[in-house]
Amino acid sequence: MKFENLQIIEPILRALKEENYSQPTTIQWEAIPHILNRHDVFGSAQTGTGKTAAFAIPILQHLYNDKTENSSKFRKIKVLVLTPTRELAIQIAESFSTYGKYTRTRNTVIYGGVSQGRQVETLKRGVDILIATPGRLLDLMEQKYVNLSNVEYLVLDEADRMLDMGFIHDIKKIIKVLPTERQSLFFSATMPKNILELSGNILNNPKKVAVNPTFSTAETIKQFLYYTNKSSKTELLMHILETEQIEQVLLFSKTKHGADRLVKNLELRKVSAAAIHSNKGQNQRQIALKQFKSKEIRVLVATDIAARGIDIDKLKYVINFDIPNESETYVHRIGRCGRAGEEGTAISICENEENHYIKDIEKLIKLKINVIDNNPFPQTDRRLSREDRKMIEKEKMQLKQEQSSARKRNLAEKNSRNAKIKQTTENNVKSRSSKGKSNPKQYEGNRSSSAPKSRNSKQRSSVR
Ligand code: AMP
Repeated sequence: MKFENLQIIEPILRALKEENYSQPTTIQWEAIPHILNRHDVFGSAQTGTGKTAAFAIPILQHLYNDKTENSSKFRKIKVLVLTPTRELAIQIAESFSTYGKYTRTRNTVIYGGVSQGRQVETLKRGVDILIATPGRLLDLMEQKYVNLSNVEYLVLDEADRMLDMGFIHDIKKIIKVLPTERQSLFFSATMPKNILELSGNILNNPKKVAVNPTFSTAETIKQFLYYTNKSSKTELLMHILETEQIEQVLLFSKTKHGADRLVKNLELRKVSAAAIHSNKGQNQRQIALKQFKSKEIRVLVATDIAARGIDIDKLKYVINFDIPNESETYVHRIGRCGRAGEEGTAISICENEENHYIKDIEKLIKLKINVIDNNPFPQTDRRLSREDRKMIEKEKMQLKQEQSSARKRNLAEKNSRNAKIKQTTENNVKSRSSKGKSNPKQYEGNRSSSAPKSRNSKQRSSVR
């Protein structure tokens, strides 16, 4: 199996060669021919399967083949990719840039949590491919900085996560303004009922492709388990880092406080580490990720939300410093390593309070995780010591606080977005009535040329 057999054009093949992609992954092998044949696709695949390239490569090929003389002079957004998190959005943009480096396409990425100025500037210069998180996209659409009336290709990536994060209404609003004549690709790791409903409204007679459902852990990932006491977890972690040949590891912590505490403890013992979680600014998170990717730091400590979709090429090790209470989270965590057929090792550190989570996980993955006997810090606590109980209570409180402040922050962001949208709409109405309704605002920074098309009848009826 080779990319050449998939009829990929030379400029893309050249870029893939430079990335040392010797052969397509299963999802690429299955999805690329359908997409090149201009079918809609309904893909069941999680990150780590190579799904970004599975949609990016054929879309770039379409753009390249559809190119006209004017397309690089007057760039219009022809591809829209919606994705749940900024990390994922940035990675997808990087993938489009990598695979499309010889196709003369231009992409940009927009996401919330940072000021919009630079994003607007890039949009004004014109792009072919827009990768966006739904909230910020809607925001910029309402401000008339984004014109989606020329979109020919739509990708919904990690659709299940977008719904989990409450983006359903935003997605529906965005899809309403897209042209009905388009090719749509829909990817989700899981297929609950609401996903099937949403996909039914978006896709037209799709071809289905499925790889690695969430309940199966990648076969290439070796999984090990240490049972220990809560109070010995850090010592055990140090022991693992010292004795195993772990060059770099992504380490999961349940709470943000826990993540910060771990980084402090690791640094005290001269292990370079950084944390990514939602209390860290976007810049700090990007810097930490960059440092990790360039191997400046050895341990990246992440919470589940912050780690969503992050892609670290050739990551070999994941450590669960605590055991997630939801078994699917375990599968997502360990899926960060052993990607695209590479080998990976997942090590879990389990205290007695978490023992029963292991049973649930093993049931889900239909596998017994190898327990390491050669463990200098074995689990001896039958009952919890007073110190452990105190720590557990404290962690539970912290988790509760973090969850409640995350909820509050989401609500505040939503309210502020709604207020902004209301204000913009009011301003538009005011300015339109003062100008006799004849000169509506323009899109994409070209504010003096032709009238906007986004409210025409074609788009109004565009949810299929
Ligand atoms: P994704 O599932 O899109 O997050 O991709 C997971 C990882 O696999 C990324 O680091 C890609 O760079 C890598 N990858 C994607 N396709 C291939 C391929 N055909 N050969 C080798 N690595 C790949």
